[in-house]
Amino acid sequence: MPDYTNEIKKRRTFAIISHPDAGKTTLTEKFLLYGGAINLAGSVKGKATARHAVSDWMEIEKERGISVTSSVLQFNYDGYCINILDTPGHQDFSEDTYRTLMAADSAVMVIDGSKGVEAQTRKLFKVCVMRHIPIFTFINKMDRDANDTFDLLDEIEKELGIATCPINWPIGSGKEFKGVYDRNSKSVLTFSDTMKGTKEGVESEIPIGDPKFDEAVGEEAKELLMEEIELLDGASAEFDLEKVSKGELSPVFFGSALTNFGVETFLKHFLQMTSSPLPRKADVGIIDPMKEDFSAFVFKIQANMNKAHRDRIAFMRICSGKFDAGMEVYHVQGEKKMRLSQPQQMMAQDRHIVDEAYAGDIIGVFDPGIFSIGDTICMSNKKFAYEGIPTFAPEHFARVRQLDTMKRKQFIKGINQIAQEGAIQIFQELNTGMEEIIVGVVGVLQFDVLKYRLENEYKVDIRLENLPYEHIRWIENKDEIDVKKITGTSDMKKVMDLKGNPLLLFVNSWSIGMTLDRNDGLRLAEFGKN
Ligand code: GDP
Repeated sequence: MPDYTNEIKKRRTFAIISHPDAGKTTLTEKFLLYGGAINLAGSVKGKATARHAVSDWMEIEKERGISVTSSVLQFNYDGYCINILDTPGHQDFSEDTYRTLMAADSAVMVIDGSKGVEAQTRKLFKVCVMRHIPIFTFINKMDRDANDTFDLLDEIEKELGIATCPINWPIGSGKEFKGVYDRNSKSVLTFSDTMKGTKEGVESEIPIGDPKFDEAVGEEAKELLMEEIELLDGASAEFDLEKVSKGELSPVFFGSALTNFGVETFLKHFLQMTSSPLPRKADVGIIDPMKEDFSAFVFKIQANMNKAHRDRIAFMRICSGKFDAGMEVYHVQGEKKMRLSQPQQMMAQDRHIVDEAYAGDIIGVFDPGIFSIGDTICMSNKKFAYEGIPTFAPEHFARVRQLDTMKRKQFIKGINQIAQEGAIQIFQELNTGMEEIIVGVVGVLQFDVLKYRLENEYKVDIRLENLPYEHIRWIENKDEIDVKKITGTSDMKKVMDLKGNPLLLFVNSWSIGMTLDRNDGLRLAEFGKN
């Protein structure tokens, strides 16, 4: 066996998802604090400006107070090497979240204890479930008055359709918050204000028989706790690691990211319950992360990370083996041998060049415009391709009018690049050139992003005219069908994508049915593959 298996074994790569404001940033910051990647919590927040500087190509992010892009962080803790993938909380970017989840082996869902399951959590969670990865729940803000614990669990089970298994249990909330009870060790971790969370808090652990337990918890709270635990033991799903690994059961933890409370115990349990990088499917079979040479796939492309350089970074997840800077690799979709240029990683928000990286790690490489989302990079003596990342069907469409025809070239370049990054999908009318471009997006906010970026990065003004289409279908058997002869309803539109694949746009689902009825043998698909 190669000598880097130990490096791979200690890797944990997960995504963190939440409704905006539930505390994802604060929790991430505390993870970094425990990992020693930052000294005082707050410095990530303090560096919020730095973070924005990284992505200041998108002022929209600031204006709307949402996190649009996802970033990657690496730190070490307790012998583990942890890669956190941050995801945008806004639902209009759930496709981005999905792609990020493709690169993760598990997900942490942060929920605000006083709000429960919120709109965006629901949507993002569905995306999580589609990936069948383990999902861990952290119920945050227990230092504020929270909803009834049983109700919270009920809500998660009903709304999100996943069984829950509380690993610990809160004793009160808000001003009455005393700590959490660990069901396994039957002891309480007492809550103390850890200098408002700016230093690592020392949590004391007191077993249930200890007289100090009663002292710390108080008689009334203890009685209630015992009742609740009895009820819980009878009612909740038993812990089953296999179910967790299939994404059928979510271990639940309680805490308060702001005051640090419950963060370290969560991290410890989480790291034990998750696995090192798992084998992945490719067209030649399953690729073992430890046995195979270097391979990776591109899950995200981000432009203008650094405004001064106008650069484009392709983020790839390493799926097997070891990466050495300067090594010759093979880009499968481009059918070319190459060296990855300026490979880099993020450490507590700082970018740095990497010399080596292992399966489970995420690296960003300089992309001169050759990579697409879903591309595989491997060694040229064993070529294979990982399964593609599905494209979400756009739900909103608009015609793009370019206002200054002199800038045609910039316009075409800009809109194509933005489409390659996966933020929008572009179509043109069948059998015409790029004269008329139709843009499809999953969330309407992407229209603003497109307009903003074309104006700011490419100096091109556009006008978007909304189109009434709501459904898009790929023609599955396009080689057997004469697309020109397809007859649909009068409001149906025939278009093609960047690769020349024919597609149909429909105003409503009734038209889809009519079109299928009228065209014998026509097969339509809801998803396209990259
Ligand atoms: P995100 O949008 O999910 O990344 O949320 P943030 O981490 O930015 O947190 C949103 C707000 O909630 C901030 O003002 C945080 O200080 C606050 N917050 C985060 N965690 C806690 C917590 O455990 N308790 C309390 N009281 N506030 C919290």
